Amino acid sequence: MLFSKPPFQSDVQLQSFTTFGIVASARFYLRIIDVTQLRQVSQLPELTKLPLLVLGGGSNVILTGDFSGVVLHIALVGREYVTEDDHFIYVRAAAGESWHDFVQWTLQQGWGGLENLSLIPGSVGAAPIQNIGAYGVEMKDCFHSLTWFELANGKIHTLTYTDCQFGYRDSVFKHALSGQGVILDVTFALAKQWQAKLRYDDVARILEETTVGAPTPQQISSAICKIRQSKLPDTRVIGNVGSFFKNPLVSAECCAALLVRFPQLINYPQANGQYKLAAGWLIEKAGWKGHVAGRVGVYSKQALVLVNLGGALGSDVIALARRIQADVERQFGVQLEIEPFLA
Ligand SMILES: Cc1cc2nc3c(=O)[nH]c(=O)nc-3n(C[C@H](O)[C@H](O)[C@H](O)COP(=O)(O)OP(=O)(O)OC[C@H]3O[C@@H](n4cnc5c(N)ncnc54)[C@H](O)[C@@H]3O)c2cc1C
Repeated sequence: MLFSKPPFQSDVQLQSFTTFGIVASARFYLRIIDVTQLRQVSQLPELTKLPLLVLGGGSNVILTGDFSGVVLHIALVGREYVTEDDHFIYVRAAAGESWHDFVQWTLQQGWGGLENLSLIPGSVGAAPIQNIGAYGVEMKDCFHSLTWFELANGKIHTLTYTDCQFGYRDSVFKHALSGQGVILDVTFALAKQWQAKLRYDDVARILEETTVGAPTPQQISSAICKIRQSKLPDTRVIGNVGSFFKNPLVSAECCAALLVRFPQLINYPQANGQYKLAAGWLIEKAGWKGHVAGRVGVYSKQALVLVNLGGALGSDVIALARRIQADVERQFGVQLEIEPFLA
Protein backbone atom coordinates (compact mmCIF):
# COMPACT_ATOMS: atom_id res chain seq x y z
CA MET A 1 0.00 0.00 0.00
CA LEU A 2 1.53 3.28 -1.16
CA PHE A 3 0.02 6.73 -0.87
CA SER A 4 0.29 7.25 -4.62
CA LYS A 5 -1.68 4.04 -5.40
CA PRO A 6 -5.28 2.87 -4.78
CA PRO A 7 -7.06 2.82 -2.40
CA PHE A 8 -5.57 6.31 -1.95
CA GLN A 9 -6.68 8.98 -4.38
CA SER A 10 -4.34 11.76 -5.48
CA ASP A 11 -5.03 15.48 -5.94
CA VAL A 12 -8.55 15.35 -4.56
CA GLN A 13 -10.58 18.57 -4.39
CA LEU A 14 -11.61 19.27 -0.80
CA GLN A 15 -13.96 22.20 -1.41
CA SER A 16 -17.14 20.16 -0.90
CA PHE A 17 -15.71 18.37 2.16
CA THR A 18 -15.52 21.49 4.33
CA THR A 19 -18.37 23.81 5.25
CA PHE A 20 -16.34 26.94 4.50
CA GLY A 21 -15.98 25.67 0.94
CA ILE A 22 -12.38 26.77 0.50
CA VAL A 23 -10.86 25.93 -2.86
CA ALA A 24 -7.99 23.54 -2.07
CA SER A 25 -6.88 20.01 -2.86
CA ALA A 26 -5.30 17.13 -0.97
CA ARG A 27 -2.19 15.43 -2.34
CA PHE A 28 -3.41 12.05 -1.01
CA TYR A 29 -6.89 11.16 0.21
CA LEU A 30 -8.52 8.07 1.73
CA ARG A 31 -12.09 7.61 2.92
CA ILE A 32 -12.00 5.46 6.07
CA ILE A 33 -14.95 3.11 6.38
CA ASP A 34 -13.42 0.51 8.68
CA VAL A 35 -10.64 0.15 11.21
CA THR A 36 -8.73 -2.31 9.02
CA GLN A 37 -7.90 0.55 6.69
CA LEU A 38 -6.48 2.53 9.60
CA ARG A 39 -4.34 -0.43 10.60
CA GLN A 40 -2.93 -0.64 7.07
CA VAL A 41 -2.27 3.10 6.98
CA SER A 42 -0.53 3.00 10.35
CA GLN A 43 1.91 0.40 8.99
CA LEU A 44 3.09 2.66 6.18
CA PRO A 45 6.58 3.95 6.98
CA GLU A 46 5.91 7.03 4.79
CA LEU A 47 3.13 8.14 7.15
CA THR A 48 5.49 9.92 9.50
CA LYS A 49 7.08 11.86 6.63
CA LEU A 50 3.92 13.59 5.44
CA PRO A 51 1.49 16.04 7.08
CA LEU A 52 -1.72 14.32 8.17
CA LEU A 53 -5.25 15.68 8.35
CA VAL A 54 -8.04 13.68 9.96
CA LEU A 55 -11.24 15.07 8.48
CA GLY A 56 -14.78 14.61 9.76
CA GLY A 57 -17.60 16.85 8.53
CA GLY A 58 -15.13 19.67 7.80
CA SER A 59 -17.19 22.19 9.80
CA ASN A 60 -14.31 23.32 11.98
CA VAL A 61 -11.40 23.26 9.56
CA ILE A 62 -9.92 26.08 7.52
CA LEU A 63 -7.70 24.91 4.68
CA THR A 64 -4.98 27.51 4.43
CA GLY A 65 -3.86 26.18 1.03
CA ASP A 66 -3.51 22.91 -0.87
CA PHE A 67 -2.82 20.13 1.61
CA SER A 68 0.53 18.55 0.82
CA GLY A 69 0.01 15.40 2.86
CA VAL A 70 -2.57 12.71 3.54
CA VAL A 71 -6.23 13.34 4.33
CA LEU A 72 -8.02 10.54 6.20
CA HIS A 73 -11.74 11.23 5.82
CA ILE A 74 -13.57 9.47 8.64
CA ALA A 75 -16.75 7.70 7.51
CA LEU A 76 -17.17 5.06 10.25
CA VAL A 77 -20.86 4.54 10.95
CA GLY A 78 -23.11 2.88 13.54
CA ARG A 79 -24.87 3.79 16.78
CA GLU A 80 -26.18 1.63 19.58
CA TYR A 81 -27.66 1.35 23.02
CA VAL A 82 -24.85 -0.14 25.15
CA THR A 83 -26.27 -0.73 28.63
CA GLU A 84 -27.83 1.05 31.59
CA ASP A 85 -27.58 1.24 35.37
CA ASP A 86 -29.68 2.95 38.02
CA HIS A 87 -28.57 6.39 36.92
CA PHE A 88 -27.58 6.37 33.26
CA ILE A 89 -28.33 5.00 29.81
CA TYR A 90 -25.13 4.40 27.87
CA VAL A 91 -25.14 4.94 24.10
CA ARG A 92 -22.35 4.78 21.57
CA ALA A 93 -21.88 6.22 18.09
CA ALA A 94 -19.14 5.73 15.55
CA ALA A 95 -16.95 8.71 14.67
CA GLY A 96 -18.37 9.28 11.19
CA GLU A 97 -21.99 9.57 12.33
CA SER A 98 -23.59 12.99 11.92
CA TRP A 99 -23.68 14.66 15.33
CA HIS A 100 -27.13 16.18 14.86
CA ASP A 101 -28.63 12.91 13.56
CA PHE A 102 -27.20 11.11 16.57
CA VAL A 103 -28.69 13.69 18.96
CA GLN A 104 -32.08 13.33 17.24
CA TRP A 105 -31.84 9.53 17.49
CA THR A 106 -31.24 9.71 21.27
CA LEU A 107 -34.22 12.04 21.65
CA GLN A 108 -36.43 9.74 19.56
CA GLN A 109 -35.57 6.90 21.98
CA GLY A 110 -36.76 9.17 24.83
CA TRP A 111 -33.27 9.83 26.21
CA GLY A 112 -32.57 13.46 27.10
CA GLY A 113 -29.24 15.16 27.74
CA LEU A 114 -27.87 16.20 24.36
CA GLU A 115 -30.80 18.38 23.24
CA ASN A 116 -29.01 21.72 23.82
CA LEU A 117 -26.34 20.59 21.35
CA SER A 118 -28.86 20.06 18.53
CA LEU A 119 -27.96 21.22 15.04
CA ILE A 120 -24.23 21.60 15.68
CA PRO A 121 -22.76 20.51 12.34
CA GLY A 122 -20.11 17.85 12.02
CA SER A 123 -19.43 14.33 13.16
CA VAL A 124 -19.58 12.49 16.47
CA GLY A 125 -15.84 11.79 16.32
CA ALA A 126 -14.95 15.47 16.21
CA ALA A 127 -17.26 16.44 19.09
CA PRO A 128 -14.70 15.64 21.82
CA ILE A 129 -11.86 17.42 19.99
CA GLN A 130 -13.07 20.85 21.00
CA ASN A 131 -15.66 19.65 23.53
CA ILE A 132 -18.48 21.18 21.50
CA GLY A 133 -20.83 23.39 23.43
CA ALA A 134 -23.93 25.49 23.03
CA TYR A 135 -26.74 26.95 25.13
CA GLY A 136 -25.13 26.24 28.49
CA VAL A 137 -24.19 22.60 27.80
CA GLU A 138 -20.90 21.07 26.72
CA MET A 139 -20.41 17.62 25.24
CA LYS A 140 -18.35 16.67 28.31
CA ASP A 141 -21.52 16.94 30.45
CA CYS A 142 -22.82 13.68 28.91
CA PHE A 143 -19.48 12.11 27.95
CA HIS A 144 -18.51 8.67 29.25
CA SER A 145 -15.51 7.45 27.21
CA LEU A 146 -14.15 7.04 23.70
CA THR A 147 -11.95 4.73 21.73
CA TRP A 148 -8.90 6.20 20.06
CA PHE A 149 -6.69 4.64 17.41
CA GLU A 150 -3.00 5.46 17.81
CA LEU A 151 -1.48 5.84 14.36
CA ALA A 152 2.13 5.24 15.45
CA ASN A 153 1.48 1.64 16.52
CA GLY A 154 -2.08 0.71 15.54
CA LYS A 155 -3.16 0.30 19.17
CA ILE A 156 -6.71 1.07 20.25
CA HIS A 157 -7.10 2.82 23.61
CA THR A 158 -10.16 3.56 25.73
CA LEU A 159 -9.95 7.10 27.03
CA THR A 160 -12.02 8.22 30.02
CA TYR A 161 -13.39 11.64 30.92
CA THR A 162 -10.25 12.38 32.94
CA ASP A 163 -7.93 11.23 30.14
CA CYS A 164 -9.59 13.62 27.68
CA GLN A 165 -8.84 16.75 29.79
CA PHE A 166 -11.85 18.67 28.54
CA GLY A 167 -11.92 22.45 28.84
CA TYR A 168 -13.72 25.29 27.10
CA ARG A 169 -13.50 24.31 23.40
CA ASP A 170 -10.50 22.25 24.41
CA SER A 171 -9.28 18.72 25.09
CA VAL A 172 -6.12 16.60 25.15
CA PHE A 173 -6.61 16.08 21.38
CA LYS A 174 -5.58 19.68 20.80
CA HIS A 175 -2.46 19.24 22.90
CA ALA A 176 -0.56 16.05 23.88
CA LEU A 177 -2.50 13.80 21.45
CA SER A 178 -2.81 16.32 18.63
CA GLY A 179 -2.35 14.73 15.19
CA GLN A 180 -1.46 11.34 16.67
CA GLY A 181 -4.61 9.34 16.20
CA VAL A 182 -8.21 8.93 15.22
CA ILE A 183 -11.25 8.81 17.47
CA LEU A 184 -13.20 5.70 16.45
CA ASP A 185 -16.34 6.03 18.55
CA VAL A 186 -17.73 7.90 21.54
CA THR A 187 -19.87 6.60 24.41
CA PHE A 188 -22.27 8.90 26.24
CA ALA A 189 -23.94 8.53 29.64
CA LEU A 190 -27.42 10.04 29.53
CA ALA A 191 -28.93 10.68 32.96
CA LYS A 192 -32.22 8.95 33.70
CA GLN A 193 -33.13 11.83 36.02
CA TRP A 194 -33.21 14.35 33.20
CA GLN A 195 -33.25 18.05 33.99
CA ALA A 196 -33.83 20.85 31.51
CA LYS A 197 -30.94 23.30 31.16
CA LEU A 198 -32.51 26.61 30.23
CA ARG A 199 -29.97 29.25 31.13
CA TYR A 200 -30.49 31.20 27.94
CA ASP A 201 -33.34 33.72 27.73
CA ASP A 202 -34.08 33.20 24.02
CA VAL A 203 -34.58 29.44 24.52
CA ALA A 204 -36.85 30.00 27.53
CA ARG A 205 -38.83 32.64 25.59
CA ILE A 206 -39.49 30.38 22.59
CA LEU A 207 -40.52 27.52 24.89
CA GLU A 208 -42.94 29.78 26.75
CA GLU A 209 -44.53 30.72 23.45
CA THR A 210 -44.72 27.20 22.04
CA THR A 211 -45.21 24.78 24.94
CA VAL A 212 -47.59 24.25 27.81
CA GLY A 213 -46.08 23.03 31.09
CA ALA A 214 -42.54 21.75 31.56
CA PRO A 215 -40.73 21.34 28.22
CA THR A 216 -39.53 17.92 27.03
CA PRO A 217 -36.00 17.31 25.67
CA GLN A 218 -37.51 17.12 22.16
CA GLN A 219 -39.23 20.50 22.58
CA ILE A 220 -35.99 22.08 23.81
CA SER A 221 -34.20 20.62 20.79
CA SER A 222 -36.83 22.06 18.43
CA ALA A 223 -36.57 25.50 20.08
CA ILE A 224 -32.78 25.47 19.81
CA CYS A 225 -32.92 24.39 16.15
CA LYS A 226 -35.29 27.27 15.44
CA ILE A 227 -32.99 29.81 17.13
CA ARG A 228 -29.86 28.48 15.43
CA GLN A 229 -31.51 28.53 12.01
CA SER A 230 -32.50 32.17 12.51
CA LYS A 231 -29.05 33.27 13.73
CA LEU A 232 -26.48 31.27 11.79
CA PRO A 233 -25.95 31.10 8.03
CA ASP A 234 -26.87 27.80 6.38
CA THR A 235 -23.54 26.26 5.34
CA ARG A 236 -25.16 24.90 2.17
CA VAL A 237 -25.81 28.49 1.09
CA ILE A 238 -23.03 30.54 2.71
CA GLY A 239 -19.75 28.84 3.57
CA ASN A 240 -18.73 29.25 7.23
CA VAL A 241 -17.44 27.37 10.27
CA GLY A 242 -19.77 28.88 12.87
CA SER A 243 -17.90 30.91 15.51
CA PHE A 244 -14.54 31.88 14.09
CA PHE A 245 -13.06 32.99 17.41
CA LYS A 246 -13.31 31.58 20.93
CA ASN A 247 -14.91 33.78 23.57
CA PRO A 248 -11.87 35.23 25.38
CA LEU A 249 -11.28 34.64 29.07
CA VAL A 250 -9.92 37.64 30.97
CA SER A 251 -9.02 38.46 34.56
CA ALA A 252 -11.52 40.14 36.91
CA GLU A 253 -9.37 43.32 36.84
CA CYS A 254 -9.35 43.41 33.05
CA CYS A 255 -13.13 42.89 32.91
CA ALA A 256 -13.75 45.62 35.51
CA ALA A 257 -11.53 48.07 33.61
CA LEU A 258 -13.35 47.32 30.34
CA LEU A 259 -16.75 47.76 32.02
CA VAL A 260 -15.77 51.31 33.02
CA ARG A 261 -15.16 52.12 29.35
CA PHE A 262 -17.92 49.92 27.90
CA PRO A 263 -20.80 49.48 30.39
CA GLN A 264 -22.66 47.22 27.91
CA LEU A 265 -19.76 44.74 27.70
CA ILE A 266 -21.18 41.20 27.73
CA ASN A 267 -19.37 39.14 30.37
CA TYR A 268 -19.92 35.86 32.21
CA PRO A 269 -18.15 35.14 35.53
CA GLN A 270 -16.36 31.78 35.56
CA ALA A 271 -15.83 29.39 38.47
CA ASN A 272 -12.07 30.12 38.46
CA GLY A 273 -12.54 33.88 38.94
CA GLN A 274 -11.97 34.77 35.29
CA TYR A 275 -14.59 36.39 33.05
CA LYS A 276 -15.67 35.15 29.65
CA LEU A 277 -16.34 37.95 27.18
CA ALA A 278 -18.53 37.64 24.09
CA ALA A 279 -16.11 37.72 21.14
CA GLY A 280 -19.01 38.59 18.80
CA TRP A 281 -19.83 41.69 20.85
CA LEU A 282 -16.19 42.87 20.76
CA ILE A 283 -15.95 42.36 16.99
CA GLU A 284 -19.26 44.10 16.35
CA LYS A 285 -18.35 47.01 18.66
CA ALA A 286 -15.03 47.32 16.81
CA GLY A 287 -17.04 47.92 13.64
CA TRP A 288 -16.53 44.68 11.70
CA LYS A 289 -20.08 43.33 11.45
CA GLY A 290 -21.05 43.01 7.77
CA HIS A 291 -17.52 43.96 6.60
CA VAL A 292 -16.64 42.66 3.14
CA ALA A 293 -13.02 41.90 2.17
CA GLY A 294 -13.16 40.55 -1.39
CA ARG A 295 -14.13 36.88 -1.33
CA VAL A 296 -14.68 36.77 2.44
CA GLY A 297 -16.58 38.81 4.97
CA VAL A 298 -18.08 39.10 8.45
CA TYR A 299 -21.66 37.81 8.54
CA SER A 300 -24.15 40.69 8.63
CA LYS A 301 -26.30 39.09 11.36
CA GLN A 302 -23.54 37.73 13.64
CA ALA A 303 -20.08 39.29 13.86
CA LEU A 304 -18.50 36.10 15.23
CA VAL A 305 -19.03 34.30 11.93
CA LEU A 306 -16.72 34.80 8.94
CA VAL A 307 -18.28 33.85 5.62
CA ASN A 308 -17.20 32.72 2.18
CA LEU A 309 -18.65 35.17 -0.31
CA GLY A 310 -17.59 32.94 -3.22
CA GLY A 311 -14.35 31.24 -4.21
CA ALA A 312 -12.50 32.11 -1.00
CA LEU A 313 -8.94 30.90 -0.53
CA GLY A 314 -7.52 30.06 2.87
CA SER A 315 -5.23 33.08 2.64
CA ASP A 316 -8.26 35.41 2.28
CA VAL A 317 -9.81 34.02 5.46
CA ILE A 318 -6.62 34.18 7.49
CA ALA A 319 -5.86 37.73 6.34
CA LEU A 320 -9.30 38.94 7.45
CA ALA A 321 -9.08 37.05 10.75
CA ARG A 322 -5.67 38.62 11.51
CA ARG A 323 -7.00 42.13 10.81
CA ILE A 324 -9.93 41.55 13.18
CA GLN A 325 -7.64 40.14 15.88
CA ALA A 326 -5.29 43.13 15.62
CA ASP A 327 -8.13 45.65 15.72
CA VAL A 328 -9.88 44.05 18.72
CA GLU A 329 -6.58 43.98 20.58
CA ARG A 330 -5.94 47.63 19.71
CA GLN A 331 -9.41 48.76 20.83
CA PHE A 332 -9.98 46.54 23.87
CA GLY A 333 -6.58 45.08 24.76
CA VAL A 334 -8.12 41.59 24.39
CA GLN A 335 -6.59 38.80 22.29
CA LEU A 336 -8.95 36.70 20.20
CA GLU A 337 -8.01 33.11 19.52
CA ILE A 338 -9.07 31.43 16.27
CA GLU A 339 -11.42 28.50 17.00
CA PRO A 340 -11.26 26.29 13.86
CA PHE A 341 -8.32 24.05 13.08
CA LEU A 342 -5.97 25.63 10.50
CA ALA A 343 -4.76 22.92 8.11
C1 LIG B 1 -22.88 26.81 11.29
C2 LIG B 1 -21.97 26.22 12.34
C3 LIG B 1 -22.31 26.28 13.66
C4 LIG B 1 -21.47 25.73 14.64
N1 LIG B 1 -21.86 25.80 15.95
C5 LIG B 1 -21.07 25.27 16.91
C6 LIG B 1 -21.46 25.34 18.28
O1 LIG B 1 -22.54 25.82 18.61
N2 LIG B 1 -20.63 24.82 19.19
C7 LIG B 1 -19.44 24.24 18.86
O2 LIG B 1 -18.72 23.79 19.78
N3 LIG B 1 -19.04 24.17 17.57
C8 LIG B 1 -19.82 24.66 16.59
N4 LIG B 1 -19.43 24.60 15.29
C9 LIG B 1 -18.12 24.01 14.96
C10 LIG B 1 -18.19 22.53 14.49
O3 LIG B 1 -19.48 22.17 14.11
C11 LIG B 1 -17.74 21.57 15.59
O4 LIG B 1 -16.42 21.87 16.00
C12 LIG B 1 -17.76 20.10 15.13
O5 LIG B 1 -17.52 19.24 16.22
C13 LIG B 1 -16.76 19.80 14.00
O6 LIG B 1 -17.06 18.51 13.52
P1 LIG B 1 -16.50 18.01 12.12
O7 LIG B 1 -16.82 16.57 12.00
O8 LIG B 1 -17.01 18.88 11.05
O9 LIG B 1 -14.95 18.19 12.33
P2 LIG B 1 -13.85 18.65 11.28
O10 LIG B 1 -14.08 20.08 10.95
O11 LIG B 1 -13.77 17.69 10.18
O12 LIG B 1 -12.55 18.53 12.19
C14 LIG B 1 -12.37 19.37 13.32
C15 LIG B 1 -11.14 18.89 14.07
O13 LIG B 1 -11.37 17.58 14.59
C16 LIG B 1 -10.42 16.64 14.07
N5 LIG B 1 -11.16 15.40 13.86
C17 LIG B 1 -12.31 15.23 13.18
N6 LIG B 1 -12.73 13.96 13.28
C18 LIG B 1 -11.81 13.30 14.02
C19 LIG B 1 -11.67 11.95 14.48
N7 LIG B 1 -12.58 11.00 14.22
N8 LIG B 1 -10.57 11.63 15.19
C20 LIG B 1 -9.63 12.55 15.49
N9 LIG B 1 -9.71 13.85 15.10
C21 LIG B 1 -10.79 14.22 14.38
C22 LIG B 1 -9.89 17.28 12.80
O14 LIG B 1 -8.59 16.80 12.49
C23 LIG B 1 -9.90 18.75 13.18
O15 LIG B 1 -8.77 19.06 13.98
C24 LIG B 1 -20.26 25.13 14.27
C25 LIG B 1 -19.90 25.07 12.91
C26 LIG B 1 -20.75 25.60 11.96
C27 LIG B 1 -20.38 25.50 10.51
